[in-house]
Amino acid sequence: LMQLSIPLNFIGFVYREIRQGLTDIEQMFDLLEVQAEVVDGPGATPLAIAQGAIAFKDLHFHYDPERPILKGVSFEVPAGKTVAVVGPSGAGKSTISRLLYRFYDVQKGSITIDGQDVRDVTQKSLRAAIGMVPQDTVLFNDTIAYNIRYGRPGASDAEIEQAAEVAQISHFIKDLPDGFDTKVGERGLKLSGGEKQRVAIARTVLKAPPILILDEATSALDTTTEHEIQSALDIVSKNRTTLVIAHRLSTVVGADEIIVLKGGEIAERGSHSELLAQDGLYASMWNRQREATQAEEMLRQVRESD
Ligand code: ATP
Repeated sequence: LMQLSIPLNFIGFVYREIRQGLTDIEQMFDLLEVQAEVVDGPGATPLAIAQGAIAFKDLHFHYDPERPILKGVSFEVPAGKTVAVVGPSGAGKSTISRLLYRFYDVQKGSITIDGQDVRDVTQKSLRAAIGMVPQDTVLFNDTIAYNIRYGRPGASDAEIEQAAEVAQISHFIKDLPDGFDTKVGERGLKLSGGEKQRVAIARTVLKAPPILILDEATSALDTTTEHEIQSALDIVSKNRTTLVIAHRLSTVVGADEIIVLKGGEIAERGSHSELLAQDGLYASMWNRQREATQAEEMLRQVRESD
């Protein structure tokens, strides 16, 4: 009954937040008094992070039994390393990040962090250990400072400024009329996709989690913004176990390992140079993307010379 009295647009908002993987999902479920799909087991204990090594073993997963999404995927993200998952649209890349965050449980196989199955630990401790930079960040209708502080509610103003600095967004913020007190979100200043993503990065810098999931924005960013975001991400992911869900390949070149997913299975894996040498799916995706970037660059030059 409670649910019926909640305005539809609020439900829409919550739905979007859930889809986009905002960190505080549990609070949202509390608000709506709905049962989350996944709940703590009776004997759930807090996750004890030693190094933060992740192992995905023989993952089988479907949303709909008629359509398997993952069909036996195994790989590891060693502590402090960066592993990127790439592959065609719909291959199941983001699904892997949702399983790690335990929005859903696998039907077969397991995901462990330092040897502990994610199904055996409390969701609260699991989500506290993981920082998620989602594809498209939804900002609260509040100040920039509030939106960054969300990563660690007790953070001081100085810490917020430092986090913004690391995320390469502090220049932008300081030039705003009200600086960190500028209101953003649907009813405030509208930020671009790249700016929002950097606010999400600043949030994650404050949270300082041992494990990081970067679900890269699908939308194209201009080259300068992309470089800024990339260098912010490089700083944040340094010495932190990082899983990158990549929709563009330019961001995965430096990854310790690249997993190429296709049809629910790992089609290829290796470093960027190893995969190029294999001259398979990754190499053809890389070449296609390079051609597209060059074409865009040429178009831009033509437009600018007009
Ligand atoms: P992209 O690069 O386009 O973001 P992806 O590889 O990240 O794709 P996923 O988001 O993991 O793909 O989705 C894999 C498949 O699962 C897609 O076909 C998608 O339609 C389907 N899917 C995703 N979420 C759900 C859901 N909640 N219910 C049913 N099907 C879903």
